[in-house]
Amino acid sequence: MKLLTPGPVTTRPEVKEAMAQDIAPWDNDFRPIYKAVRDRLLQIAGGGAETHVALALQGCGHFAMEAAIRTFVPVGGKVLIPLVGSYADRMAHLAAEAGRDPVILTVDQERPVQPAAIAQALAADPSIGHVGLVYSETGSGVIHDPVSIGAAVRMAGRKLLVDAVSAFGALPLDVSSQPELEAAIFTSNKCLEAMPGLGFAVARIDSLVAAKGNAGSWSFDFADIYEHTLRPNSSGSFRFTPPAQVLSAVHAALDLFDLEGGQPARLARYRANANVLYDGMMSLGLAPYLSRDVQGPIVMNVAAPDDPAWDLQRFVDLLKLQGWLISNFYNTPRPSFRVGCIGAVTPDDMRSFVRAVESALNTIGIRNRHASRAVA
Ligand SMILES: *Cc1c(COP(=O)(O)O)cnc(C)c1O
Repeated sequence: MKLLTPGPVTTRPEVKEAMAQDIAPWDNDFRPIYKAVRDRLLQIAGGGAETHVALALQGCGHFAMEAAIRTFVPVGGKVLIPLVGSYADRMAHLAAEAGRDPVILTVDQERPVQPAAIAQALAADPSIGHVGLVYSETGSGVIHDPVSIGAAVRMAGRKLLVDAVSAFGALPLDVSSQPELEAAIFTSNKCLEAMPGLGFAVARIDSLVAAKGNAGSWSFDFADIYEHTLRPNSSGSFRFTPPAQVLSAVHAALDLFDLEGGQPARLARYRANANVLYDGMMSLGLAPYLSRDVQGPIVMNVAAPDDPAWDLQRFVDLLKLQGWLISNFYNTPRPSFRVGCIGAVTPDDMRSFVRAVESALNTIGIRNRHASRAVA
């Protein structure tokens, strides 16, 4: 079975094998692996050893995002969140639950966020301290540019937090060139092509030091993790039991990442996957949700066929019988199905997936493959 979901993703055998062992996380043979993973992630993010650090937190992306909000945004602090899709909405939810004040900026979700809109919103409210941006909005498939938006944030003298969960490893990131960027958040199980179970932050050390005591949570506090892990004389291990097998899988996945040619090569493969998928859906008479110029390389939503026989779960089940697993839900305003272009899959896989889609549509008896015009 291959997963075509935007995380968890299909992984290579080497990654699965790296997990098949018993590990004591505080053991002196394991600590160097933890350190090596942190060093490698810092390098991929373009972080300087003196200025930045990569930290790990047990759990999923939401946990890491909550920890970043709690650590860097003070209690009651305002964070401007351009509402680019469902993950931006989740960021706002996490901020509100943590007692921070999300300020929602309504934007066209089918276009990249305009830096001018951010500049305008920040000028209108000097009490906003942070901007929270989703780099690759997994709900829509649109990529938002942290560099140009970061420049607007920097000009306004504010700080930036980036949800890079479905971006990191595939889309470029250079935290050293963006001093306004306090932290970028990502996980083990998306474009790094490892297993779920760990969240990461690449963060500024000065911001972490200044954030001591902010979090209001011991569990979700990157400043505490920094202190525990990296300060001189600290233990260099996790505070609480980590999924050590997952970390070992990340280490193996980073070997494959390097072998492939790093971030540019990974992006090229994902783009090629997305192009094959886009062409394939069009050739079947299906309508990708986004126009080609804004379709990102991570995840593609395809409009549900406007046919009374359409049944998403049945479609998913028929694909599964052919060895492909896609999401059985959608995040778009109008009905759709979504396909991940990430993970250990190639353009040849995408070609065979397109044939599986055709077969599933025929089995269901879909006659009209054009987009549903029903508006939710
Ligand atoms: C996957 C994802 C997350 C985190 O999801 P978890 O299920 O908590 O790991 C956050 N943001 C984006 C953009 C994502 O794609």
